[in-house]
Amino acid sequence: MEKVFIDLDKKSYFIHIEKSILNSISDYIGNADKWMIITDKNVDCLYGEKVLGGLKGKEIHKFIIEPGERSKTFSTVEKILNRMIEKGLTRKSKIIALGGGVVGDIAGFCASIYMRGISFIQIPTTLLAQVDSSVGGKTGVNMILGKNMVGSFYQPEAVIIDTDTLNTLPKKELISGMGEIVKYGVIWDYDFLNLIEENLENILNLEEVIMKKIIKKCCEIKAEVVSKDERELGIRKILNFGHTIGHALESTTAYKRYTHGEAVLIGMYYEALMAKGYGYIEDEYFKEIENIIKSLGVSLDIEEFSNDSLIESMMKDKKNKDGKISFILPKKKGVVKEVLLNRGEILW
Ligand code: NAD
Ligand code: ZN
Repeated sequence: MEKVFIDLDKKSYFIHIEKSILNSISDYIGNADKWMIITDKNVDCLYGEKVLGGLKGKEIHKFIIEPGERSKTFSTVEKILNRMIEKGLTRKSKIIALGGGVVGDIAGFCASIYMRGISFIQIPTTLLAQVDSSVGGKTGVNMILGKNMVGSFYQPEAVIIDTDTLNTLPKKELISGMGEIVKYGVIWDYDFLNLIEENLENILNLEEVIMKKIIKKCCEIKAEVVSKDERELGIRKILNFGHTIGHALESTTAYKRYTHGEAVLIGMYYEALMAKGYGYIEDEYFKEIENIIKSLGVSLDIEEFSNDSLIESMMKDKKNKDGKISFILPKKKGVVKEVLLNRGEILW
């Protein structure tokens, strides 16, 4: 069993990482008068029974959403909250988020506003959710005018990661998780980037020892960054490397063409290219980042999108300051910095 402790001002919790941990889930979730499992259709079919089996003897309710980003709306949240009231959940009840980042973000948001906040547990089942979205307490929904525009900072009581769940994940979703994993290497730990590069095949084959090691390391890095800056006033912004361009690509294609992590991989490539153009990083380091991104097989061709349309979308980014667009750019191996640029200064 691997464990990561996340130590925040008001709340601290453990991330438990283990193969088949879903079989002993009740050891990690404490007590509650009632439980509400929030999941999506795909994950429910695969793991719903297993989780129910682990919660034997408890009063359990379940809300199943349609899979995918389009469910991440206020209207879904309202339906879930109504169901919770209907079923009589109290302040002593707990929510379980069983699924990827979409389920985690919605369930966490519901937990944060139901009766002004009840406890919730994250059981992430995508690689992206295991290494990123289930950790750190950002919750929320998309609005017509912007992704993740409404939400809260609200930490779970525990995160339970069963590496077995990755075995059913489609390859595209696995690559999506790789986007965030590569990001941690570039922003925080050059040795980790090398480890990823050297073990890429084993990672993509979901070899157990390396998966546990990689997931643990990502959670440790995220825990460290978030514990320094829970509300993203400073250092937490570095987690957005690849995301300025990545988010623009996602929104320009109406969230239909790229998974989040694919967009981040493309974004990291072009943001690394910008860093090279500005003379922040050497050609040799750029090539290393390029190689690892290219070996994940995502097309880096974005010529069909005009720079103007991408920049227009970046102008709406929450991180912008004084009309300038915020980029996190590599500065040296394992180190990045925030750079604020006027639209005319953005070149890749
Ligand atoms: P997702 O939740 O949409 O899951 C992707 C797909 O995989 C879905 O179809 C789902 O049903 C399916 N799936 C999930 N687990 C599976 C499994 N074990 N086997 C087979 N299929 C499975 O997408 P995601 O990539 O996990 O999350 C993306 C979301 O996370 C975005 O909304 C993004 O904004 C959010 N996010 C949040 C944070 C944060 O800090 N809160 C960070 C990064 C991303
Ligand atoms: Zn991301």
